[in-house]
Amino acid sequence: MNMIANHPPTAELQALDAAHHLHPFTHGGELKQKGARVITRAKGVTLTDSDGNDYLDGMAGLWCVNIGYGRDELAEAASRQMRELPYYNTFFQTTHVPAIALANKLAELAPRDLNHVFFAGSGSEANDTNIRMVRTYWAEKGKPEKNVIISRKNAYHGSSMGSGSLGGMSFMHEQGGLPIPDICHIDQPHWWKEGGDMSPEEFGLERARQLEQKIEELGEDRVAAFIAEPVQGAGGVVIAPSTYWPEIQRICDKYEILLIADEVICGFGRTGSWFGSETLNIRPHIMTIAKGLSSGYAPIGGSIVCDEVAEVINNCEFAHGYTYSGHPMACAVALENLRILEEEGIVDRVASHSAAYLADKWKGLADHPLVGEATTIGMMGSIVLTPDASSRAAFAGDEGDAGLITREHCFQNGLIMRHVGDRMIISPPLIITDAEMDTLVERAWKALDLAHKQLK
Ligand code: PLP
Repeated sequence: MNMIANHPPTAELQALDAAHHLHPFTHGGELKQKGARVITRAKGVTLTDSDGNDYLDGMAGLWCVNIGYGRDELAEAASRQMRELPYYNTFFQTTHVPAIALANKLAELAPRDLNHVFFAGSGSEANDTNIRMVRTYWAEKGKPEKNVIISRKNAYHGSSMGSGSLGGMSFMHEQGGLPIPDICHIDQPHWWKEGGDMSPEEFGLERARQLEQKIEELGEDRVAAFIAEPVQGAGGVVIAPSTYWPEIQRICDKYEILLIADEVICGFGRTGSWFGSETLNIRPHIMTIAKGLSSGYAPIGGSIVCDEVAEVINNCEFAHGYTYSGHPMACAVALENLRILEEEGIVDRVASHSAAYLADKWKGLADHPLVGEATTIGMMGSIVLTPDASSRAAFAGDEGDAGLITREHCFQNGLIMRHVGDRMIISPPLIITDAEMDTLVERAWKALDLAHKQLK
């Protein structure tokens, strides 16, 4: 039997899934007990599960389905490319048309002199590329000891040994021997949680200056690069205070360390520009990309690299690459996705309309008694659940319980919203309509009401 074309009922699917499928970021015991939610199809911003329930996908999958679900053009691009050339590699002086076309398109879209692309299969792989690339860059320049990469606590840069080490999630570091050597972490610019009595502006400066302190502590001649997400996504959609990025940029310029902007979430329109670096006025040497590059329709990521770094890397044979670097089908799908984002004015519409509409609706949630603050940037947002907004208090008991309860009420009411501790976060498809944003906020309010009653 072809199980995909003609699947068994939900309970049977869940039992088979629990018996044979190991899931990412999932507790196996809970999976066995409750069963996974089985998603069977999707269109626009709506997901449907195996029992026929619909959900408004407030997370665009995992922050990736920027053009929304169900675009036949991408299926056709994949099918055309699979018939023409399903696979060939880009190793050993070989190339193919989809990789050439996509690299050129990305060079056109990326700001300034970010003109060169190294392809990978995912954001994690791309960040692993970045670790090796920046270290190779400094070694080629005769400074092999300049190999420390500074990142931030509570950052997320992927799950592989390298990218998981760049990330600053302590619960990830507790498993599997992370971080690898010569990666260190400074504190995050998370004012709500860690800002104490400082104003957001003072706090932003204080946190940015930790980078300078770390460089001085390690010695300038040891530091290769600083990596950060323009807006921390998986950390809870943490938007840094306005003083933070200008100070980080000043420090990177002063000490001539490479700046890597991890645009895996922020890229391709999420913040209202093609790249979060443009929205926040950051000038990276390398940008990590994935997710919205293909709107999640095909697995593809990469590093967009500036002229200077590419020139040095091109002086040697960079002994690095993945079987699927520049996979032809994934490149063809990504190109079609970029065409749609551009020609249908999806990124422009975020900037000229949808971001402001969402911000306006979302900030209304701050009036809910369970909510401390409600913030957005472009098409991503967060609310903080708190028993007392004025003191930015956390709930007694385990952090995340209130978030979990609220998330479950969201599911029960047809909304997918994620929680990070007691922050609820959204990142819907960029094509979401005004009426759908109204529905999203209405359902979020209802879930908050139910959670509030339960928490009393
Ligand atoms: N970087 C950031 C900022 C991310 O949010 C993610 C995934 O969520 C990654 C890297 C890793 O990407 P992937 O899951 O494609 O390996």
